[in-house]
Amino acid sequence: MKCPFCGTPGTTVADTRISEDGDIVRRRRRCLSCDKRFHTCERAEILLPQVVKKNGSRVDFDREKLLASLWLALRKRPVTVEAVDAAIQGIVEKLLTQGEREIPSEKIGEMVMDELKKIDKVAYVRFASVYRNFEDVDAFSDLVNEVSSRPAPQPVR
Ligand SMILES: [Zn+2]
Repeated sequence: MKCPFCGTPGTTVADTRISEDGDIVRRRRRCLSCDKRFHTCERAEILLPQVVKKNGSRVDFDREKLLASLWLALRKRPVTVEAVDAAIQGIVEKLLTQGEREIPSEKIGEMVMDELKKIDKVAYVRFASVYRNFEDVDAFSDLVNEVSSRPAPQPVR
């Protein structure tokens, strides 16, 4: 496995875990060159659910598209690539462990908001304001208040 940070092919496996149902193999790896750590997750691709859109059509879950929308919300925000990758990984693992064959797109939107809330409040509000259809300004300010009462995000390393 090539290091995603520096491209060195030499990485060691520090830990291997198999999920309870045996569907996911998770490995913690360390790069021998830059010493950065990362996780890999092996699973059968077919286990990811179909996303049911609001108009009732179904599309394949698209990890890259989800990653792009997260980065759009996080534009110019002080977050690490690791934090964003971990957020995507968190969503994918949630989808896998739920084992549903179909999931409404709204559910994925909620998951994205949960993850963004943890890593960056501003991005969370950005995403939520686009994602949710606010009835009025009060609903939006309620959300802003909810966010500003939470603890500060972790500083960037
Ligand atoms: Zn490396």
